[in-house]
Amino acid sequence: MAFLVKKYGGTSVGTVERIKSVAKQLQAAHQAGDDIVVVVSAMSGETNRLVALAREMMPAVVDVRELDVLLATGEQVTIALLSMALKELGVDARSYTGSQVRILTDSSHSKARILDIDQTPILEDIKQRRIVVVAGFQGVNENGDITTLGRGGSDTSAVALAAALKCDECQIYTDVDGVYTTDPRVESRARRLDKITFEEMLEMASLGSKVLQIRAVEFAGKYNVPLRVLSSFEPGEGTLITYDDEENQMEQALVSGIAFNRDEAQITVVGVADKPGIAYSILGPIADLNIEVDVILQNIGENGLTDFTFTVHRDEYQRVLDFLNGRLADIGAQSITGDNRIVKLSLIGVGMRSHAGIASRMFKVLAENNINLRMITTSEIKISVVIDENFLELGVRSLHEEFGLDGAPDVS
Ligand code: ADP
Ligand code: ASP
Ligand code: MG
Repeated sequence: MAFLVKKYGGTSVGTVERIKSVAKQLQAAHQAGDDIVVVVSAMSGETNRLVALAREMMPAVVDVRELDVLLATGEQVTIALLSMALKELGVDARSYTGSQVRILTDSSHSKARILDIDQTPILEDIKQRRIVVVAGFQGVNENGDITTLGRGGSDTSAVALAAALKCDECQIYTDVDGVYTTDPRVESRARRLDKITFEEMLEMASLGSKVLQIRAVEFAGKYNVPLRVLSSFEPGEGTLITYDDEENQMEQALVSGIAFNRDEAQITVVGVADKPGIAYSILGPIADLNIEVDVILQNIGENGLTDFTFTVHRDEYQRVLDFLNGRLADIGAQSITGDNRIVKLSLIGVGMRSHAGIASRMFKVLAENNINLRMITTSEIKISVVIDENFLELGVRSLHEEFGLDGAPDVS
């Protein structure tokens, strides 16, 4: 008997049949004695469909308040359908939108942060042995306006509920049976991890592995919520995300995983003066446009001139190119070039901290496969390179093999 939050992603509730299957799984757990709060996403493809509708209506600048009203409808459909399916099975259930359970957020529409959750109505239902079905991805601000939490945000709704309700575990059910050494859709030899540290999971999520939303991992780490990723299609233990403490005795894998991000684009400002303030003169105005910059590279200057390269989200590529082209004279640059067919490929592992030579092994393998590295960035537990997108699969597979990720883990 446990008190659990169980979250089901879009594919897991993508059809009426899938929703019925989830309802049966919930019924079994409930009958076995578990107290359950369920969080659901919109049916697969629905949020994309709604985003496309909004773009048709407002091609230039989308009104984020209205966009959130629209996007929140996706999850409202699934909570109702799942509650109906449960009731058909004779299980008492009740659905709630984000504003009904009062998931209070700040007002940053489309990327709102959860501030507080009212536990009283949920705990009352749980006391009555009801299954509580909550809409993921949405909340309400202090003015009563609907907000959403960013793409993949139902993971964060689930973790926040588990933290607020002090649940025993937060279980994220999806279309893979756990967290793998890399995306199993790119490398079929990827191996499921039984455990992964919060630190590594945070790197994986922030470097592009969309299996969990970054904020969900941050939240779970901060409030020490035991978090597990499992399949809604087949039984299994999944992957537990945990602290690397003595109790857990995590093996110190040199490299625990490979992540990649296909959403980036590279921009180079050619021939700028090699003098103090240049990075600020280029990136300052871009930050003012609320555009996030990721990897940054400034070359050693020659004859007083240098090139300055950085990456942004692909959706912002054209906007940044146009903006900088309009400011050539102010920056004092010769030209702007760019490439939106690049990816960032990253190697992650807490074992890197105590081991030199991982980077050179990585570069050697990529060189042997004729993969050109355009940019490199490192931290204590990760190394990232920016490469041509055509080489992504080759890069992932060759690194996966080099670091023995498909076999027993290479431990320190
Ligand atoms: P959901 O709709 O359930 O939230 P997502 O599509 O957001 O599911 O996340 C699951 C997907 O994450 C998988 O189908 C898989 O392709 C992808 N993925 C990327 N990296 C990994 C990884 N390291 N381990 C497992 N899945 C991964
Ligand atoms: N439906 C939202 C999305 O597609 C939230 C989620 O599924 O987590 O991003
Ligand atoms: Mg997701």
